[in-house]
Amino acid sequence: MTDDTIDIKLTETNFLTRWHCHVCGGHTEKVPVLAEGELLLPTGHSHGEGYDCYTVRVCEQCLQAGEIDARLERTARQIEANADFTRALIGKLRVPSYAEWNAAVEAHWAAIEREYRESEQLPVLRVVNHDDSVPF
Ligand SMILES: [Zn+2]
Repeated sequence: MTDDTIDIKLTETNFLTRWHCHVCGGHTEKVPVLAEGELLLPTGHSHGEGYDCYTVRVCEQCLQAGEIDARLERTARQIEANADFTRALIGKLRVPSYAEWNAAVEAHWAAIEREYRESEQLPVLRVVNHDDSVPF
């Protein structure tokens, strides 16, 4: 082991959520024990007036699969490919406004409500009850 290795240790958590995995780019399940370590980088990643501490996490799927370095390399390549894809979109997207999106959402819910009122039961129940007038 060299001085720049990071010890990943098993740590209990009482906050059950899906935590980001730095190895595969995915997430943990809602597990009570995490595999985490600390990475110290010079402040501002340059001339080292101090250090910032970053948590490095390895999900249980990566622990099970092993080959951590190969998975890290694959994740780094995916991030680079995603960056290229994202940059290729710059200047090319014509998007609806937020107000247009919001109006479409309101129209969606209004149509559902109208359908419910007309049928007096949820559309899904009409399917279950073999109502052939359901348009889907
Ligand atoms: Zn992982």
